[in-house]
Amino acid sequence: MRSTIGLFTLASLLLAGCGGPDASGPAVTGEDRAAAAEQHAQLLAEFGGAYQGDESVYLTRLGGKIAAAAGLEGQCTFTLVNTDVVNAFAVPGCYIYVTRGLMAIVGSEGELASVLAHEVGHIVGQHSKRQQKRSLWRGLGVLAVQVLTGSERLTRIAGNAATFFTLRYSRAQEYQADDLGLGFLRSAGYDPYAASDMLGALSRQEQFLAATKGRDEAKSIPEWARTHPLTGSRVERARQAAAATGAQPDALPEYEDRYLQALDGLLYGDDPQQGFVLGRRFAHPVMRIGFEAPAGFTLTNSPQAILIEGPDGLRGEFGGGRVPEGGLQAYAEALLRQLLGDAPVRVGDGRAARVNGVDALFVPAAVSTENGEIPLSIAVYQASGGNAYHFAMVSNSAGGSADALDPLFRSFHLLSAEEARRLRPRRIRVAEVGPGDTIASLAGRMADTNQRALFLFLNDRAPDQPVRPGEKVKIVSFAER
Ligand SMILES: [Zn+2]
Repeated sequence: MRSTIGLFTLASLLLAGCGGPDASGPAVTGEDRAAAAEQHAQLLAEFGGAYQGDESVYLTRLGGKIAAAAGLEGQCTFTLVNTDVVNAFAVPGCYIYVTRGLMAIVGSEGELASVLAHEVGHIVGQHSKRQQKRSLWRGLGVLAVQVLTGSERLTRIAGNAATFFTLRYSRAQEYQADDLGLGFLRSAGYDPYAASDMLGALSRQEQFLAATKGRDEAKSIPEWARTHPLTGSRVERARQAAAATGAQPDALPEYEDRYLQALDGLLYGDDPQQGFVLGRRFAHPVMRIGFEAPAGFTLTNSPQAILIEGPDGLRGEFGGGRVPEGGLQAYAEALLRQLLGDAPVRVGDGRAARVNGVDALFVPAAVSTENGEIPLSIAVYQASGGNAYHFAMVSNSAGGSADALDPLFRSFHLLSAEEARRLRPRRIRVAEVGPGDTIASLAGRMADTNQRALFLFLNDRAPDQPVRPGEKVKIVSFAER
């Protein structure tokens, strides 16, 4: 979360490219490119911004190679996204996004190339054109909220941005993207078995996250697995397709060393500039604030806000901004206008409170829709330097939300200097295994509560597979400041 309140028009992006022919005509049209270019900055802002660094140069170069192998030389744009969510996705116009979370779990250049080739496969197969309209607005009553209020921002809150960009492809489309991707991977000169290795790594991630779920409930299902359904049969299918190319496993290069060299120093986990989501807790070492949601809530970090989902259809955001003249009441009113636009809203009397030593204002509101009123609860907190922070929570059900929201609203607090200092960024460091090293000694160097599990998972290693001196491994360590 960064400290400004933004406005979003993801809806226009999501609907761009609809209504065209299915898999006919060129895979990348000038019209699609222009639409994707126009939305690029906004989409990036929504997902964490572009990651700056050598790793992004590396990704762009590799992407160019894969696009060329797919006959789309110079027609695709590859971007490394600054989030630890594991995901990759393609937007019509061949704008392809890969997260640093995905780069962290990849073990070779060939594996990363296979992900890019798969996404280019979705472009060549023109899958999004058929998918977007049908799936994106599915469920949640999200559509109803937008139709009834005409408010895109409220729609986003009701839906949650992560859900918004969840392009769900059919199994047939996934298989086609796998098949097309494998061809591009092979043409670009990589070991075609890298694709099944990569799919295997992703399903191990699912297991790893399931096993360490208590640590981080919000991320228990990797985004990539949600958007690209992973099954054992898909891994096996990719392996058989690689065998069918006639190539022997490892006959063609995967470039492990070159990849690890490029990866060395990549930020791992949350970015301190966006704050840390730790299970149901959120803490921002730069803004020096935090809160903790009650059991049953999940948090998702995005650059503009923390998206919050609770029981009984409770949804909302935590964000911040400048306090206007008129204080917290004026802030709450400005926030409501931003959230709702011109939608009719009934605002109740604000109730002043002290929350953990901070001045706060609780404002109940109700949005009128054709289906009755949607309760909207706002809590605003006065911070230093003319800034304020807020929760804005909508609920689909009429009753019960106040009881669930009170502990959330009362958990807001300022961080001490010591608490802020402990929230240090982590980076991936590539280390060479020394003569006396064991899995235990190397895992002991991991800056994580699940040292051994994370070591085995990031290095794609079975517990009984010994390390060899001279081998390169990924270690997660605290960054020097
Ligand atoms: Zn896919």
